[in-house]
Amino acid sequence: MRRRLDSPKLVLASHNAGKLREVAALLEPWRIEVVSAGALGLPEPAETEDSFLGNAAIKALAAARASGLPALADDSGVSVAALDGAPGVRTADWAEVTRDGRVVRDYAMAMGKVEKLARHAPDRRAWFSCALVLGWPDGHTEGVLGEVHGRWAWPPRGDRGFGYDPMFVPEGGTQTFGEMDPAAKHAISHRAVAFAQLSAACLPPLP
Ligand code: IMP
Repeated sequence: MRRRLDSPKLVLASHNAGKLREVAALLEPWRIEVVSAGALGLPEPAETEDSFLGNAAIKALAAARASGLPALADDSGVSVAALDGAPGVRTADWAEVTRDGRVVRDYAMAMGKVEKLARHAPDRRAWFSCALVLGWPDGHTEGVLGEVHGRWAWPPRGDRGFGYDPMFVPEGGTQTFGEMDPAAKHAISHRAVAFAQLSAACLPPLP
């Protein structure tokens, strides 16, 4: 039996303004007040697990325990079949570079790494995953995993998305996520799939 969210207020365990906006918009019909871990000044825990669900649980529980409120965390990434699922949980790390003493994310470089390692492989399958975990201050968690399957394209195309979007073509499509209308991407994305599961299992029925 899944535990349902019964609090009018929820912490989003992310310091990423884009994710906060996206999840706040998804939650809008429930009229749940969303505050970010960043706005509450909560520290970011280390993501030490080797699964999306494990890392999302670390983030959700850290925020729930520190705030005393239920918290929702997202952990996501892209996996390439020819690379045995890499970069997977290390998707963000693959983009990290140090420039002028600062760590920044360079996605053109990260996509280039995928191409360099996998270009001779006949298997072009790739998929995005998104884990969403609700954590409560008493240590309880509820998690779901959404995926969208497709293949990786080279060279990258389109500038409408973010991250690895320009190198991913969803199954049955011809455009990359970077070329697609953002609303069309959001209708089928790994995050949308995960959110549909989470709302069915753990959010209160809509009035
Ligand atoms: P996280 O913030 O630790 O979960 O890292 C997620 C990583 O996956 C980041 O590098 C994102 O750019 C990438 N990522 C997650 N979802 C998407 C997506 O929808 N499009 C492109 N890249 C994504």
